[in-house]
Amino acid sequence: MRLVLLGPPGAGKGTQAQRLATEFDVPHISTGDTFRANALAETPLGRKAKEYMSRGALVPDEIVVEMVLDRLQKSDTEKGFILDGFPRTRPQAEALDSLLVSDGHRLDAVVDLVIDDELVVRRLVGRRSCPGCGALYHLSWGPPLLEGKCDNCGATLVKRDDDDKPTVRRRLEIYHSDTEVLEAYYATTGQLVKVAGDAPEVEVTRRALEALRAHLG
Ligand code: AMP
Repeated sequence: MRLVLLGPPGAGKGTQAQRLATEFDVPHISTGDTFRANALAETPLGRKAKEYMSRGALVPDEIVVEMVLDRLQKSDTEKGFILDGFPRTRPQAEALDSLLVSDGHRLDAVVDLVIDDELVVRRLVGRRSCPGCGALYHLSWGPPLLEGKCDNCGATLVKRDDDDKPTVRRRLEIYHSDTEVLEAYYATTGQLVKVAGDAPEVEVTRRALEALRAHLG
């Protein structure tokens, strides 16, 4: 199964990608997670990416494309993959298509998580994550049992640098100006599968699987 998850920041791409990766037994590849891990380890790639991420801007295409194409050469992607956060621009989508075509493949579908901008802002501004085990919380809708601590491993929860209100607004603007065009791009090729993302995660996965079954026949 070769899938791309599309949608604005806060649509639930990471959560759904993880759940779909388990369902289809393929790796979950998140460009945002890769950049954050590199930034934490202070690698040259991480330092470069951080300049862009901290202000909500996109990392330049050539850096992201090289990183993803490299990752897709690894043998664990032979049966497929779930791409989360890539492509985000038309040149990235074209680079992905070229790579797949050269390997005799194509995407099975592009799952587009549809969600309203105001819900995105509320979701992201209240989002907290565990640096230890990756668990996600929301201050209003799913707080931890003990304030500021992870229920699973007890680590102190953190807020992503780019989840403050002005940066979320900037990320949304960039989504509308640079990434939304990919809906039309993939609609033309018949690969786009729209899924309403305004529901609890289990329900969104159910919707996505139902839509994928209908799409793949
Ligand atoms: P995410 O975790 O997907 O929200 O990504 C966090 C940040 O990483 C984004 O706001 C960008 O700065 C950067 N990033 C992740 N994926 C890409 C991509 N495909 N193209 C450009 N920048 C990206």
